[in-house]
This record gives sequence, structure tokens and C-alpha cells, in this order.
Amino acid sequence: MDPMPESEQVRADSLTLPLRPQDEVECRLCEVHCDKVVYPSACLERSCPFVYAYEEHGHTYMGCMQKVFSAEIDLDMLTAAERRREGFGAVRALRAPLPMCRSDVETCFSHRLSELGCTNPEFNELPAGSPTFRVFARISGS
Ligand code: SF4
Ligand code: SF4
Repeated sequence: MDPMPESEQVRADSLTLPLRPQDEVECRLCEVHCDKVVYPSACLERSCPFVYAYEEHGHTYMGCMQKVFSAEIDLDMLTAAERRREGFGAVRALRAPLPMCRSDVETCFSHRLSELGCTNPEFNELPAGSPTFRVFARISGS
């Protein structure tokens, strides 16, 4: 039997449902294209124990030890953006959000949704609940 052409193999792979769609960070099973995102401002509001911060060149940067997102964000920028109505917004998740994360699913091309609707609804299940512990960090000098 002839091997499947590469283009068909890629398409077949993209149509395979993952074992645990809840743990995936992107879905390309249809033309809508959905991605998981998290809101870094919520990491601070929720006193997540996985937030780290460091100072460099007179700025304080924060990030996620669990690498749910990879960016290191200037705390002043984040605080200033949060004062505006639209807020700082979300960043793309690199791994499945944890229960303490404020997470969401962003759809790129919602107008492309077919009459059948979403064929991977489990992808949209986000972790619910909150951690059973809280850690309070004191930033030196404050
Ligand atoms: S685990 Fe979630 S809430 Fe905690 S720092 Fe990372 S992204 Fe933020
Ligand atoms: S609409 Fe559903 S099937 Fe389509 S990309 Fe989004 S999660 Fe996947």
C-alpha cells in the first residue's frame, strides 16, 4: 500500500482528538482555531504562590514559575494597564492552566464555526476552583 501523502497525513493528524483535550493549549480541529489564555493580573490578585518577581534596571518584572505563560512582565506596565477599563488583558498559555489561574479560551475566527458547532467541546473545559493554600509575599522596601 502506498504511504499517505504528507499533506493528507498532516490533515489526518490535525483531525485526531487528543486523549485529554482539557490539557491542550490550542485546538486546530476546525477552522475556528482556539487557544487557551491566562490573565497575569489575576496571578497577583489571587496571591498565587507560583508568581516570581525580580528587579532589573530599576524595573520590577513578574513571571510564572510553572511556565503557564513565559513572558516576564513589567509590574509598572501591568499596574498602569489595570487602571484602564480594558485592563492588561490575557497572554497565551504555554501549558494547561492550573486551578489558581484566571484562564479563558480565545477563538480566533469565530465566524468560521460550521453548522455542526464545536467538535471538541472538552477543550473549553477550564480548571475550576482555587488552591487550598495562600502564600503572602512581602516585597522588601514596602
Ligand atoms: S500558576 Fe497561574 S496564577 Fe499562578 S503565576 Fe502561573 S499563571 Fe499565574
Ligand atoms: S471551535 Fe471547537 S473544534 Fe473548533 S478549534 Fe475551537 S475548540 Fe477546536
